[in-house]
Amino acid sequence: MSDDAAERHRARMARRKARVDADIAAAQQDKGLLLVLTGPGKGKSSSAFGMLARALGHGQKAAVVQFIKGRSDTGEEAFFRDQAGVDWQVCGEGFTWETQSRERDVAAARAGWAVAARSLADPAVNLLVLDELTYLFSYGYLDLATALADIAARPPMQHVVITGRAAPQALIEAADTVSDIGDLKHAFRAGVRAQPGIDW
Ligand code: ATP
Ligand code: MG
Repeated sequence: MSDDAAERHRARMARRKARVDADIAAAQQDKGLLLVLTGPGKGKSSSAFGMLARALGHGQKAAVVQFIKGRSDTGEEAFFRDQAGVDWQVCGEGFTWETQSRERDVAAARAGWAVAARSLADPAVNLLVLDELTYLFSYGYLDLATALADIAARPPMQHVVITGRAAPQALIEAADTVSDIGDLKHAFRAGVRAQPGIDW
């Protein structure tokens, strides 16, 4: 690299650093966040469990409510259930195509929300993961306004992570951070079955 090019690179990096430093200096607030991980791509629940690991690593207290029980032998449940500081609850029996009873699904959704509401009212819980919650709104099993009111009334420093496809607009608007995970490619469509450690 010529001296000129090296100097131009140095000056560009210095300008970038000044911008990044200014952005970092401007973000001084601490608050409990509402995060929504949605979209058709892989990575919603596993991202939520990544944050769970981070929180526990800081000695925080966490709760997980799984609203759709896909399978009972997931690596995340086996691992996190035994960790100090986690309350792991599974609600919902599969829903719709498994139970084929709307009445049972609605009852399971309500019971699940009652479990979530306990954590939402507990200031000792630093992080609450509501895994696959969005489907309860899609199917009309749970009233969105009620859920949003309970979430809004939570302790001010409590973080809540909600996962599931097709998050409703009002939930996206209420959230602080929203990731819409795209599906560019998935091995399943090439005939690869769900792999332990990657998919469950
Ligand atoms: P993960 O738990 O791996 O982060 P996810 O929470 O984003 O996935 P879900 O819709 O909850 O995705 O689906 C759970 C299961 O379906 C996982 O085994 C995941 O690998 C798989 N899966 C996720 N997205 C797709 C997809 N686009 N096509 C096929 N299978 C998928
Ligand atoms: Mg998921």
